[in-house]
Amino acid sequence: MAVLQREHGRRVLLEQIRQSGRVPRIELADKTGISRATVTTITAEFLQNGLIEEVAREDSDGDARRGRPRVDLKIRGDARLIAGVKVSSLKLSLVLLDFEGSQIATLETELDQTRQSPDKLAGDIRDAVAQLAEVAGHAPSDVSGVGIGIAGMVQAGGGFVHWSPSLNERNVQFGAVLTDVLGVPAFIDNDANLVAVAEHRFGLGKTHNDFIVVTIESGVGMGLMIGGELYRGTRGCGAEFGHTKVHLDGALCRCGQRGCLEAYVADYALLREASIVAATNDDEDSSARVKSLLSAAKQGDPAAKTIVDRAGRMFAMGLANLVNIFDPELIILAGEQMQFDHLFADDVITAMRKSIVQIDKPPPDVVIHKWGDLMWAQGAAAYALDKVSELALAGLSDHAA
Ligand SMILES: [Zn+2]
Repeated sequence: MAVLQREHGRRVLLEQIRQSGRVPRIELADKTGISRATVTTITAEFLQNGLIEEVAREDSDGDARRGRPRVDLKIRGDARLIAGVKVSSLKLSLVLLDFEGSQIATLETELDQTRQSPDKLAGDIRDAVAQLAEVAGHAPSDVSGVGIGIAGMVQAGGGFVHWSPSLNERNVQFGAVLTDVLGVPAFIDNDANLVAVAEHRFGLGKTHNDFIVVTIESGVGMGLMIGGELYRGTRGCGAEFGHTKVHLDGALCRCGQRGCLEAYVADYALLREASIVAATNDDEDSSARVKSLLSAAKQGDPAAKTIVDRAGRMFAMGLANLVNIFDPELIILAGEQMQFDHLFADDVITAMRKSIVQIDKPPPDVVIHKWGDLMWAQGAAAYALDKVSELALAGLSDHAA
């Protein structure tokens, strides 16, 4: 029992110090409800193990005049380095955080192919992490853990990838492959989940405990924060918003089923429709074709507009279903590319509001947050930071035992 209490106390105090930035010992006891004696014991242990440090109080008050130096505690930034990686279809985006959670370097590198073997992708990630460490003046071996966000169905705890558009194999123990190739613990999760983590830690979800993040890239993803915890489902394939059904026996989806939301709003779905009315030029690559379809719709081309408007209505129906099931405080539509403006449109949000259960209370806020890929990587790094902190604390327990 005492051991469990000690472990719990360590976790709570480390998190509190990180959240506070700089904090006097006495305030830690007040903020956490942990006794002053235990705070003193545990913080001494943190100091001894180099996880935190003492710094002179910036605003010295009366006590300083009486010759008693006042100190605050803070996380020791250089105690650990943590990398976060977002795997996109042809790009890796990386951030390096210190143990305080401050960003100290970023890097973007290209991938040769959209789909790769697990070993090749893990090797590319290893090389990129090494380059990232170098940018910050560190050796790759200084990095204590790496968080990786990848599209697809990922069982986060076990690092198991059921399927990902970035891998050419199904059912891969990709977490284990990465840990092996990187030589440090790797923590993998679905990329949309990690956007929800980032929103909760750094972004618009900071002041909310119940919110939904919908990500729009070439596919449609979702992260579900319930009571301040990420909901992952039991098989790691929950919150697959893109594959919720919006049409009985509808359009064929990449997943092999029919009528999925993604089969109406993803790039390939727009192009499939566009090719029927020949509104696009087949010589161009798909991203250029999507762009010309969207700009044709903006300029009022009737065929292009019909296609794009339908995608918007389907997306609105999907959002309304989410509201009707979860009743969240907030929905955050997160994505980067301007090319999804048609889904981020006021018309879509108005259509969603019409399809939700009407009660005498306002509908949830829907906000748009255009993140760059580096912010997704920051979510991956925040996830890894939590895990590396757990490992650091487990190290203390082993030491004590
Ligand atoms: Zn599907």
